[in-house]
Amino acid sequence: MAGEVLIAGGGIAGLSLALTLHQIGVQARVYEAASEIRPLGVGINLQPNAVRELFDLGLGAEVLDRVGLPAREWALVGLNGNDIHAEPRGIEAGYRWPQYAVHRGAFHMALHQAVRDRLGEGAVVTGARAQGYAQDADGVTLHLSRADGRHSEARGALLIGADGIHSAIRAQMHPDQGPIHWGGALMWRGTVRARPLRTGSSFVGLGTGRQRMVIYPISHPDAEGRALINWIAEVTVDSTGGWSGERWFEPAEIGDFVHHFEAFRYPWLDVPALLAASGAAWMNPMIDRDPVPAWVEGRVALMGDAAHAMYPTGSNGASQAIVDARVIGAKMLAHGVGPGALSAYDAELCGPVSELVLRNRNAGPFGLLDIVDDRCAGVFDDIDTVIPPEERAAFIAGYKAAAGFAIDRLNAAPPTIPPGARVGAA
Ligand SMILES: Cc1cc2nc3c(=O)[nH]c(=O)nc-3n(C[C@H](O)[C@H](O)[C@H](O)COP(=O)(O)OP(=O)(O)OC[C@H]3O[C@@H](n4cnc5c(N)ncnc54)[C@H](O)[C@@H]3O)c2cc1C
Repeated sequence: MAGEVLIAGGGIAGLSLALTLHQIGVQARVYEAASEIRPLGVGINLQPNAVRELFDLGLGAEVLDRVGLPAREWALVGLNGNDIHAEPRGIEAGYRWPQYAVHRGAFHMALHQAVRDRLGEGAVVTGARAQGYAQDADGVTLHLSRADGRHSEARGALLIGADGIHSAIRAQMHPDQGPIHWGGALMWRGTVRARPLRTGSSFVGLGTGRQRMVIYPISHPDAEGRALINWIAEVTVDSTGGWSGERWFEPAEIGDFVHHFEAFRYPWLDVPALLAASGAAWMNPMIDRDPVPAWVEGRVALMGDAAHAMYPTGSNGASQAIVDARVIGAKMLAHGVGPGALSAYDAELCGPVSELVLRNRNAGPFGLLDIVDDRCAGVFDDIDTVIPPEERAAFIAGYKAAAGFAIDRLNAAPPTIPPGARVGAA
């Protein structure tokens, strides 16, 4: 339909945008390359700035508690098992909205269900891979290749590329963009059913800047006190020569990497045992893309990982994708469903979020581990003698401000989309 907004990609970004546009009375359709939406991935965090937007979309605690749980603490622990920094998160930190740790696949399915319920079954067209676009004064045409080999076209008022880090829309908008960037970090990810650490919902980063475990629960505990625990094992290797693997994401065996973590045994956590009890694991290099100067070209815009694929060091890739959707909606309320709305979105987010991409490349909040590494090789008795509390607090506060979830600012901000607002309504 000519007036529709076409969305290429039905991940967290694309589906959040579809729900936002429906909320403000704008017709949208999602074109997704996969032949069906399946619950893929493991843990992700939804920061309070994104949870606020989900609540405003009517996806409240009753939905989020089915796919994850509120995060209560964020803690960095040194190689010798001593705390470097620990702070409350979400409501306990003073935010008006919780932070959630969720299973990516389960959350994605919940978004998909909400899109089907609200926009109808035909709102997500699967098996439709975006290949490129052409635009003119009246609209934009999206070129698609279908799962059965056919080619087809869709015509709309605007096109939003939400097609992830390998975005075809971005490749056309920025034909000179460089290759995917890999800085040497390898990640193995998986889940295990186990007792949660510390508060029962703590995010724990353990080790050094170049060799660490990230561990946090992504479900409420069962009757035996066990929850689904997400873990990420990370090591940094020499990346001279670039990534030589054939794929960016592939199944792995625990035996491929557990030797890096043999020494990670403490009275409160035995990492090799935790890994050994896990089922499937996945390996992927930590990758991002160099920022581009603009996310918008006329009637076409990028969002989510297509706009700003970032290292997951700040736990905010999915959160930023949700915020993108809401800002696009807000700009349509202000400027109508046209190129002006997209320019305003670009002007607000492209610069600061691109800076965040580069900040995450420098380890994001895990940069504290690097500082401790430099100053005492990760071994200390009293962290205050290595890095004083004020320096730690300032470091973390700087990251939150850059990522858009500084407490006071977020708590005081008016809703991105006022309740009941509709495009075209007076
Ligand atoms: C399978 C998968 C598993 C993931 N697992 C994790 C995880 O465990 N932890 C974590 O932190 N992050 C994970 N991520 C990344 C995380 O979901 C994103 O960084 C974040 O949610 C931003 O979402 P996005 O919608 O912009 O991008 P994505 O989540 O990458 O979604 C992009 C969507 O576009 C579709 N697509 C791609 N190309 C085209 C095309 N040409 N035409 C139409 N559709 C296209 C893809 O199939 C996908 O559904 C995963 C991503 C994927 C795709």
